[in-house]
Amino acid sequence: MTLLEARHVEKAFGRTHALRGVSLTIESGETVAITGPSGSGKSTLLHCLSGIMSPESGEVHYAGRRIDDLDETARTRLRREDFGIVFQLDRLVPELTAVENVALPLLFAGRGRAEATTVALGRLDEVGAADVAESRPAELSGGQLQRVAIARALVTTPKVIFADEPTGALDSVAGERVLSLLMGAARANKATVVIVTHDNQVAAHADREIVLRDGALVGGVMA
Ligand code: ADP
Ligand code: ADP
Repeated sequence: MTLLEARHVEKAFGRTHALRGVSLTIESGETVAITGPSGSGKSTLLHCLSGIMSPESGEVHYAGRRIDDLDETARTRLRREDFGIVFQLDRLVPELTAVENVALPLLFAGRGRAEATTVALGRLDEVGAADVAESRPAELSGGQLQRVAIARALVTTPKVIFADEPTGALDSVAGERVLSLLMGAARANKATVVIVTHDNQVAAHADREIVLRDGALVGGVMA
């Protein structure tokens, strides 16, 4: 079943054509890596697919419904309810502990504090970060920060996980470990994963690779 679809998506920043008519479909449960050189439009495509950004023309469909023309409130609700988002050097709230950061999306979703904390602790455990639950971001290593960011992205059991260079700030051993955790947790939850990376090792974890160059798809579109 097709879960996500881009139809002729175009996006420009001034004179820079970041996306020049990208069309693709992503099946439910698939893990897809978006690769390509720096500046080829990977992040912009991820932002359009996840509703962070609206394309100038073209359409984005999710679960059979057009989402690019929703207003900001509806898109924010969709991101909170159905999507989990992990960015490189993700911004955890510095004043909150790891477990409080992970619990935050559940509080936004209206769940009670005690329940949110219990679920958050479970997610931290799942990504091997239970021991840093009471630490604040400034006390954590890069790998620990990424684990906490992944736990936060997974805490609402999202249907789709979007990740933009989630291992970009880590050395290859730590990056490999964090990526395995992300993919493992996604598979356990039957989530669809869309991950932006310039790293072939990371792309090798995905079911399929989508390659961008100058804002357009090149080879590698087939499974
Ligand atoms: P990638 O993720 O592959 O590195 P991006 O999607 O970040 O590529 O960027 C694609 C192109 O659009 C680049 O030329 C980049 O400089 C430009 N771009 C991206 N975001 C912005 C922005 N907010 N303002 C101006 N130009 C941007
Ligand atoms: P880059 O791809 O250039 O490293 P980011 O991916 O960190 O930049 O952020 C690009 C855009 O995504 C920004 O406009 C930012 O406001 C938005 N953004 C970053 N993190 C989140 C998040 N957790 N939720 C929603 N939007 C975000």
